[in-house]
Formats: sequence, C-alpha cells, structure tokens
Amino acid sequence: LQKTSKSAVLREVGKPLEIVSVPIPEVRPGAILVKIEMAGVCGTDVHIMEGKVPVVTPTILGHENVGTIVKIGKDVHVDAAGVPVYEGDRVVCYAPVSCGRCYFCNVLKQPTRCINRISYGGWMRCDEYPYLVGGFSEYIYLLTQNNIVKISKEVPLKAAVLLGCAMRTIIHGLERIGHIKVGDIVVIQGSGPVGISGLIIARESGASKVIVIGAPRSRLELAKKFGADYTIDIEEVRDQGNRVKQILELTDGLGADIVLECAGVPSAVKEGIDMVRDGGKYLILGHYANSGTIDINPHFITKKQISIFGSWSSEPRHLVFGVKLMERIYKKYPFEEMISKTFPLEKVNDAIELMKHGKVMKSVIVP
Ligand SMILES: [Zn+2]
Ligand SMILES: [Zn+2]
Repeated sequence: LQKTSKSAVLREVGKPLEIVSVPIPEVRPGAILVKIEMAGVCGTDVHIMEGKVPVVTPTILGHENVGTIVKIGKDVHVDAAGVPVYEGDRVVCYAPVSCGRCYFCNVLKQPTRCINRISYGGWMRCDEYPYLVGGFSEYIYLLTQNNIVKISKEVPLKAAVLLGCAMRTIIHGLERIGHIKVGDIVVIQGSGPVGISGLIIARESGASKVIVIGAPRSRLELAKKFGADYTIDIEEVRDQGNRVKQILELTDGLGADIVLECAGVPSAVKEGIDMVRDGGKYLILGHYANSGTIDINPHFITKKQISIFGSWSSEPRHLVFGVKLMERIYKKYPFEEMISKTFPLEKVNDAIELMKHGKVMKSVIVP
C-alpha cells in the first residue's frame, strides 16, 4: 500500500484547491481505508467555496463518495446495515459522524442535530489524524462502520454516487413528513439532484402526479425522463403567481398534497406555501446554506392548516434504505445521463466551477 494519497486540499475558503500528498495513516481497529472510485461535486461544495457554508481548514472536500475497501481495521466486520464487509467490496461512504452520547443522539434520537457532529468533506482537518477526510482524494479514511454501506458492483458508479448525499437527504426528509402515499400529488421545487431523487421516490411510492418546477430546460427534460408528469420552467414562467396558478390548474384547484422544496432559494418557500393544498404538507429541504430571508404571511399557514417540516442531512439508515432501493431500480432510470461531466482529480477546481453555474446536473471526480 502507498504511504501517501494524492488529495485536493482546501487551505483557505475562496482559494482554489491544491493537489498535494497527504499521509495515509495506519488503519486502526474500527476504521476502514477506501480507495475512491467516484466522488460527486455537490452544490454544497460550491457554497463552501463561496463562504456560505462554514468549514474548517485545511480540509479535503467531497462528501459524495463511492469506493473500494482496501484495508479494514481489525474489528470491523459489518457496515452500517450489519452486512459483513471485506477488502475489495464496493461501498458508498456516509459522510457525517455523530457522537452517539449527546442529548440529541442519545435521548431525542435525532443524531442529525448532534452537538458534536462532524462530517467528511469539509468539517474535519486534514493536517491531523485521520488526514484523509474527504473524497476529492485517491483515498479516504473512515472512522467507523457507520461510515460505509456495501453496494452491489452491478450498480453503476454514476447511480451509486447519487446515494452519498442527494438520495439519503430526501429519504430522511420524506420520513419526517410521514412519506408519500399512493395517489398523492407531489410538487417538487428544484430540478437538481435532490429534486430528481425526490421525483424517483415519489414515482416508486405510487404518487398519482408529480410536477417538477425548475431550470434550465435541459434539467427539466431529464426530469421528464425520470418520470415527471409535468414540468414548469421558471425561466419561461417567470411570475410566481402564474406558476401557482398552473399548479392549481393541474390539481383541480386544490393544490398539491405534498410540496418538496429542493431549490435552496428563499422566495421558493413563499411560493411553495401557496402551492400546497389545505391540510397538506410542505418539506423545506433545500436550505442547507443560509441564503437569506423572505416575507411570508403566516395567516395562510394557519388558515390552510398546513404542516411545514424542516430536515437536515440524514442518518446512516437513510443511506442503507437508499442503497437497497438503488440495487433494485438502477436499470429503470437514466442515471448515466444525470452525471454530465467526469473530471480527473487534477481538474477538481474546473469541476466545482462548472457546478457553480447550474448548467450541469452533476459533475464527478474520478481520481
Ligand atoms: Zn451534497
Ligand atoms: Zn451527539
């Protein structure tokens, strides 16, 4: 095994990543060393580079990682699902690490709000153990069995990489609202990877109608291929009132049973409240970054008697559920078309730049 890993290090927010050699530590009991096969570039990486999501430095970005186990510390035998793992297995990495001991972890059972929570891909330093703390790297060093879920090698990397962030995030959010039910009409605000993941789950859950609102047109065309019944292009229908009107027309004047906000744009929330039916549910999922405020009239939340939910990241089990689902559906949806561009590690800054302009659905790094 090599002594060092080539990794893309973020020394200072706003400065480009630098490719440097990072030590590969000896794999301690309980830990796992994974060779990265594919790492997704997330909208969050763009927000990190813009200073909108706080991180520690120096660090290694990349929290959507799929790879092969190359070394197992002596007492790790199972993944987060309790499935035995061996060197040579392909795994999806689960980036966050919760402490398991704080009030949120242990009493409230909401480990996403853990007060000691850290995460790979920006929230751990790369100049101290375990050094390999992100996926824009040849290798990543994972601290616990909760950081991996084994996945069949039949699932293409371009489908597996979606599980590392977008899919597990929407699965968690939908669990919080009590899931999509057979016959539900679902409106999805946002046509990025989280929105498309919501669309897939809506289709698999038996939704009667799924409407995706977003841009650009290429993303909406892809949404159609993933099963959207209708799409609304916000670059064409620029007026919020007109978009709400279209939703009401598509729902017999009632509004949607469920609206999923996967846009990360504050004004979408005002619009979403107008789109949900009386007594319906609104999940606000897209505001991982702090994008500012918006005026809302609370009267309509009361009068419409709607339920509004927030959801942050996910728990390891949501990745487990995502992997189980993906192993069944990977042939059914055009996942290959979602990954617009593949970059070598050396071109990581170009990959992030491309994501910044929202023209591509997702770019990935293949170290
Ligand atoms: Zn992400
Ligand atoms: Zn905790």
